[in-house]
Amino acid sequence: MALCDEDDCTTALAFMELAIQQANIALENLEVPIGCVFVEDEKVISSGRNQTTETRNATRHAEMVAIDDLLKFWQEIGLSATEIAGKFSRCDLYVTCEPCIMCASALSVLNIRAVYYGCANDKFGGCGSVLSLHSQGKGFQCTSGIMASKAISLLQRFYQQGNPNSPKPHRPLQLSN
Ligand SMILES: [Zn+2]
Repeated sequence: MALCDEDDCTTALAFMELAIQQANIALENLEVPIGCVFVEDEKVISSGRNQTTETRNATRHAEMVAIDDLLKFWQEIGLSATEIAGKFSRCDLYVTCEPCIMCASALSVLNIRAVYYGCANDKFGGCGSVLSLHSQGKGFQCTSGIMASKAISLLQRFYQQGNPNSPKPHRPLQLSN
Protein backbone atom coordinates (compact mmCIF):
# COMPACT_ATOMS: atom_id res chain seq x y z
CA MET A 1 0.00 0.00 0.00
CA ALA A 2 1.22 3.46 -0.86
CA LEU A 3 1.63 6.26 1.61
CA CYS A 4 0.31 9.69 0.71
CA ASP A 5 2.23 12.86 1.52
CA GLU A 6 0.43 15.87 2.97
CA ASP A 7 -0.51 17.60 -0.31
CA ASP A 8 -1.69 14.33 -1.79
CA CYS A 9 -3.83 13.63 1.26
CA THR A 10 -5.59 16.99 1.08
CA THR A 11 -6.56 16.26 -2.51
CA ALA A 12 -7.50 12.71 -1.65
CA LEU A 13 -9.79 13.88 1.16
CA ALA A 14 -11.59 16.32 -1.14
CA PHE A 15 -12.27 13.64 -3.74
CA MET A 16 -13.22 11.08 -1.09
CA GLU A 17 -15.76 13.55 0.28
CA LEU A 18 -17.47 13.43 -3.14
CA ALA A 19 -17.40 9.62 -3.08
CA ILE A 20 -19.01 9.74 0.39
CA GLN A 21 -21.75 11.99 -1.04
CA GLN A 22 -22.49 9.28 -3.62
CA ALA A 23 -22.61 6.67 -0.84
CA ASN A 24 -25.08 8.90 1.02
CA ILE A 25 -27.37 8.97 -2.02
CA ALA A 26 -27.15 5.17 -2.17
CA LEU A 27 -28.16 4.96 1.51
CA GLU A 28 -31.15 7.24 0.89
CA ASN A 29 -32.16 4.84 -1.90
CA LEU A 30 -31.84 1.81 0.43
CA GLU A 31 -28.79 0.55 -1.45
CA VAL A 32 -25.53 -0.67 0.12
CA PRO A 33 -23.93 2.75 0.75
CA ILE A 34 -20.79 2.67 -1.38
CA GLY A 35 -19.89 5.51 -3.73
CA CYS A 36 -17.00 6.49 -5.98
CA VAL A 37 -15.58 9.13 -8.31
CA PHE A 38 -13.10 8.83 -11.18
CA VAL A 39 -10.58 11.64 -11.46
CA GLU A 40 -8.52 12.69 -14.48
CA ASP A 41 -6.18 15.71 -14.34
CA GLU A 42 -7.54 16.67 -10.89
CA LYS A 43 -11.12 16.78 -12.21
CA VAL A 44 -14.01 14.43 -11.46
CA ILE A 45 -15.05 12.88 -14.77
CA SER A 46 -17.49 10.25 -13.52
CA SER A 47 -19.25 9.20 -10.34
CA GLY A 48 -21.11 6.09 -9.28
CA ARG A 49 -23.01 4.57 -6.41
CA ASN A 50 -24.15 1.08 -5.67
CA GLN A 51 -27.36 0.34 -7.60
CA THR A 52 -27.72 -3.41 -7.16
CA THR A 53 -31.21 -3.27 -5.64
CA GLU A 54 -32.64 -0.67 -8.03
CA THR A 55 -31.37 -2.55 -11.10
CA ARG A 56 -31.84 -6.05 -9.60
CA ASN A 57 -28.34 -6.71 -10.89
CA ALA A 58 -25.75 -7.88 -8.37
CA THR A 59 -22.88 -6.53 -10.50
CA ARG A 60 -24.00 -2.88 -10.45
CA HIS A 61 -21.35 -1.84 -7.95
CA ALA A 62 -20.41 1.85 -7.75
CA GLU A 63 -17.18 1.29 -9.70
CA MET A 64 -18.93 -0.61 -12.52
CA VAL A 65 -21.61 2.08 -12.83
CA ALA A 66 -18.95 4.81 -13.13
CA ILE A 67 -16.83 2.76 -15.57
CA ASP A 68 -19.84 2.08 -17.82
CA ASP A 69 -20.75 5.79 -17.86
CA LEU A 70 -17.20 6.67 -18.91
CA LEU A 71 -17.09 4.01 -21.63
CA LYS A 72 -20.44 5.16 -22.99
CA PHE A 73 -19.38 8.83 -23.03
CA TRP A 74 -15.97 8.20 -24.59
CA GLN A 75 -17.51 5.99 -27.28
CA GLU A 76 -20.18 8.62 -27.99
CA ILE A 77 -17.56 11.33 -28.56
CA GLY A 78 -15.78 9.01 -30.96
CA LEU A 79 -12.66 7.98 -29.06
CA SER A 80 -10.89 4.88 -30.39
CA ALA A 81 -10.21 1.82 -28.25
CA THR A 82 -6.58 2.92 -27.95
CA GLU A 83 -7.58 6.42 -26.86
CA ILE A 84 -10.01 5.00 -24.29
CA ALA A 85 -7.28 2.73 -22.93
CA GLY A 86 -4.99 5.76 -22.67
CA LYS A 87 -7.68 7.70 -20.78
CA PHE A 88 -8.14 4.96 -18.17
CA SER A 89 -4.39 4.77 -17.58
CA ARG A 90 -4.46 8.45 -16.50
CA CYS A 91 -7.45 8.02 -14.13
CA ASP A 92 -7.55 7.62 -10.38
CA LEU A 93 -10.48 6.10 -8.49
CA TYR A 94 -11.73 7.24 -5.08
CA VAL A 95 -14.13 4.73 -3.55
CA THR A 96 -15.55 4.55 -0.04
CA CYS A 97 -15.00 0.79 0.39
CA GLU A 98 -12.22 -1.48 -0.90
CA PRO A 99 -13.10 -2.68 -4.43
CA CYS A 100 -14.36 -6.27 -4.48
CA ILE A 101 -12.58 -8.97 -6.49
CA MET A 102 -14.77 -8.33 -9.56
CA CYS A 103 -14.18 -4.57 -9.55
CA ALA A 104 -10.47 -4.85 -8.71
CA SER A 105 -10.06 -7.25 -11.67
CA ALA A 106 -11.81 -4.79 -13.98
CA LEU A 107 -9.71 -1.88 -12.69
CA SER A 108 -6.53 -3.87 -13.26
CA VAL A 109 -7.53 -4.85 -16.81
CA LEU A 110 -8.37 -1.20 -17.55
CA ASN A 111 -4.90 -0.28 -16.28
CA ILE A 112 -6.22 2.43 -13.98
CA ARG A 113 -3.42 4.49 -12.42
CA ALA A 114 -4.37 4.50 -8.74
CA VAL A 115 -7.14 3.56 -6.31
CA TYR A 116 -7.83 5.35 -3.02
CA TYR A 117 -10.33 3.67 -0.75
CA GLY A 118 -11.91 4.11 2.67
CA CYS A 119 -12.74 0.98 4.66
CA ALA A 120 -11.63 -2.56 3.93
CA ASN A 121 -13.97 -5.19 2.50
CA ASP A 122 -13.32 -8.32 4.60
CA LYS A 123 -15.51 -10.69 2.63
CA PHE A 124 -14.85 -9.77 -0.98
CA GLY A 125 -11.98 -7.26 -1.07
CA GLY A 126 -9.68 -7.51 -4.08
CA CYS A 127 -7.07 -4.98 -2.92
CA GLY A 128 -5.51 -6.77 0.02
CA SER A 129 -8.34 -8.24 2.12
CA VAL A 130 -9.07 -11.46 0.19
CA LEU A 131 -6.94 -11.13 -2.94
CA SER A 132 -4.27 -8.58 -3.83
CA LEU A 133 -5.16 -7.90 -7.45
CA HIS A 134 -3.64 -4.40 -7.27
CA SER A 135 -0.19 -5.99 -7.02
CA GLN A 136 -0.65 -8.64 -9.72
CA GLY A 137 -0.47 -8.35 -13.50
CA LYS A 138 -0.86 -4.73 -14.59
CA GLY A 139 -2.11 -3.82 -11.13
CA PHE A 140 -2.45 -0.29 -9.76
CA GLN A 141 -1.21 1.87 -6.93
CA CYS A 142 -3.46 1.46 -3.90
CA THR A 143 -3.97 3.61 -0.80
CA SER A 144 -6.35 2.57 1.98
CA GLY A 145 -7.93 4.10 5.07
CA ILE A 146 -9.05 7.46 3.64
CA MET A 147 -12.09 8.66 5.61
CA ALA A 148 -12.62 5.04 6.62
CA SER A 149 -14.68 5.90 9.70
CA LYS A 150 -17.23 7.85 7.60
CA ALA A 151 -17.48 4.95 5.15
CA ILE A 152 -17.97 2.51 8.00
CA SER A 153 -20.62 4.58 9.74
CA LEU A 154 -22.65 4.73 6.52
CA LEU A 155 -22.46 0.95 6.20
CA GLN A 156 -23.39 0.54 9.86
CA ARG A 157 -26.45 2.73 9.36
CA PHE A 158 -27.39 0.46 6.48
CA TYR A 159 -26.97 -2.70 8.61
CA GLN A 160 -29.17 -1.19 11.26
CA GLN A 161 -31.88 -1.14 8.61
CA GLY A 162 -31.04 -4.84 8.12
CA ASN A 163 -29.40 -6.35 5.08
CA PRO A 164 -27.58 -9.67 5.41
CA ASN A 165 -26.09 -9.46 1.90
CA SER A 166 -23.93 -6.40 2.35
CA PRO A 167 -20.16 -6.57 2.85
CA LYS A 168 -18.96 -6.38 6.43
CA PRO A 169 -16.78 -3.31 6.95
CA HIS A 170 -13.92 -2.89 9.35
CA ARG A 171 -11.27 -0.32 9.90
CA PRO A 172 -8.01 -1.29 8.15
CA LEU A 173 -5.41 -2.47 10.63
CA GLN A 174 -2.74 -0.24 9.10
CA LEU A 175 -3.86 3.22 8.12
CA SER A 176 -1.61 4.55 5.40
CA ASN A 177 -1.98 8.20 6.23
ZN1 LIG B 1 -17.31 -4.46 -6.71
